[in-house]
Formats: sequence, structure tokens, C-alpha cells
Amino acid sequence: MRLGATSLRVPLCPPWLRFSLALLVLSTPACTKPNPAPTPSTAATAAIAKSEAAAAPAPDSAPLPHIDAKRAFEYTREVAAFGPRYMGNEAHKKLERYILDHLKGDQIEHDDFTADTVEGKFPVHNIIAKFPGKNDGIIAILGHYDTNYPLRNIGYVGANDGGSSTAILLEFANQLRAKSRDGYSVWLVWTDGEEAVKSWSDSDSLYGTRHLAEKWEKDGTLKKIKALMVMDMIGDADLNIDRDTNSTPWLLDLIYAAAQKEGNQSHFYARQGPIEDDHIPFVKRGVPVADVIDLDYGYNNVFHHTAQDTMDKLSPRSLEIVGNTILETIHLLDQR
Ligand SMILES: [Zn+2]
Repeated sequence: MRLGATSLRVPLCPPWLRFSLALLVLSTPACTKPNPAPTPSTAATAAIAKSEAAAAPAPDSAPLPHIDAKRAFEYTREVAAFGPRYMGNEAHKKLERYILDHLKGDQIEHDDFTADTVEGKFPVHNIIAKFPGKNDGIIAILGHYDTNYPLRNIGYVGANDGGSSTAILLEFANQLRAKSRDGYSVWLVWTDGEEAVKSWSDSDSLYGTRHLAEKWEKDGTLKKIKALMVMDMIGDADLNIDRDTNSTPWLLDLIYAAAQKEGNQSHFYARQGPIEDDHIPFVKRGVPVADVIDLDYGYNNVFHHTAQDTMDKLSPRSLEIVGNTILETIHLLDQR
């Protein structure tokens, strides 16, 4: 993935403050609360309270979901240990087998094709695991498992970039498996060819998702997708998920609300800006999307796409925060 035309802005107030800080010159991170609304009369207050009580949904007593963060961290370690895993190389094939071995008994679909790139032809293999729900509609969660072809000879292992996304989806599968879902179907997609083979451009990036979005548009799947969330670089021990301005605001806000339930909102949205990632082909087709990514990996993003993207920079707690938040977001989407 990469930053869009403008760089991320800091600081950002939480989403309940909906005004543009871009217009403000702030020397230190600070938020200003808007003036409170005038107090309505007592009678009006009572009327509002009554109508709100009538409209209020039943209290949500469902326990907050929890992933097994230790297990997700071990998956990340095992995925990184495969080494460079660009489209079609031996380590990539081994990782495909590893993913499929962890999905035995699940409903799997393959989206395989050949990408014609500036560096030649590469096989691209998106892997989809489907967990059916009773409601008509799909929640899609995507995460890429490939690493960069140009970094194949520098000892690059992509623990965070490629590793954490692969692992968190495997853990989501563990949480979804063998449970009957009252809500929407959940589809997990291990995407391939997210990275550029030479240098990032519209035509050299997102090979897997550009293909999948087109396929899902043709076969009518896109119309059924209620929300699509991309997991990318979510293992950084210093976790700061960006508010991506290419994503859908209401879905970003729902994720924030889910994070708030466990008191984890301080890890979300301190920066904002446009990010190009696996969600873009779906943005272009009007699907509600959220890119869940921490694109500040080490001071000034110094570990990103370097041989320093290794396990010692990551924390199981970060996987836990994102994992629990996204499972709760699924729960909130089911209630909508
Ligand atoms: Zn990357």
C-alpha cells in the first residue's frame, strides 16, 4: 500500500468532532470541543427523552468477542518464517498450503489467474473462506499474504506487512468456524499480489483485488456486500490505526465505536489521510469499505518495506486490539 497524493495529517480529534482540523494551525496535538447546544426546556427534554426511549433498540447484552492473540502472534511468526513470498515463488506456494491446511473443513473458493506485469507473468491466487450467516448479505474481510517481488533478495520477511494480515484472518477463521451465525455471512479473503512488482502505480499494484472486484461485479456478489474491511500492517507494537480518507466514513466510525467498547479507541485515528490499499478497487465500485492499517511503522514509517520488518517490532496486544475490534464491528454490522 502507499499514501495517496497528500500525506497523513496529525493531529486529529476523535470522530465525534466533525470539523476539519486542516483549517487550523496547531502546534501541539489538541482538540477543541464545540460549544454545547443550548439547553432545551424541561418539557421539551422530557418529550425528547420519551421519544428516544421508544426508539431505543433493546440493550445489547452480547459479550464482547475476543481472539486468541497468542495464537495469532504465533501464526504471524510462522508466516514470516517462510521468508520472501512473492507471487509464484516456492515460499509463496508453501504459504498457500499453510493457509489451506488451517482451513480444513471450511468452505473454500479459489480465485486464480495470471497477472501480466512489467516484470513478466505471475500466477495470482486469492483464497476465499466463506462462513455462512442467516441474514442475506456479506461482510468481507481482506488481508494480503504476498510480499514484494523487488525486495526478494534483501532478506525481507514482511512480519507486519503481509504476515500480520495473513495471521489475523486465520484467527478470525478460528473464531467463526463451527458456529451458527445469525447475522450476515462472513467471507475472509487472503489476497495475493497486493504489492507492486516494480514501483507502485494504478497498473502495478493490487493485482488480486482488481481481479476479484471485477469478478464480483460481474457475478452480482458486490451488491450483497454490506461492508468490506481490509487488514494491513496491524501488528506494530506501537499501534496507531490511520483514518483513511479513501474509506467510507460511517464504517470507520462503526469500527471506532467497536474499539470504544473495550477502551481501545486511543489506538485509532490519530492521523488521517488518503491511503491506497486493497480496498481501492471496491471503493471505485461503490462498496462500503474500511482500510484498517497503521502506516506509521517505526518512527517516520522507517521499518516499512525494509529488512527491519521483523517479529521483534510486533506485539500480540496489537493483534488483539484489532482482532477484538473487528469481531465487535461484525457484531455491530449484524445489528444494523
Ligand atoms: Zn507493503
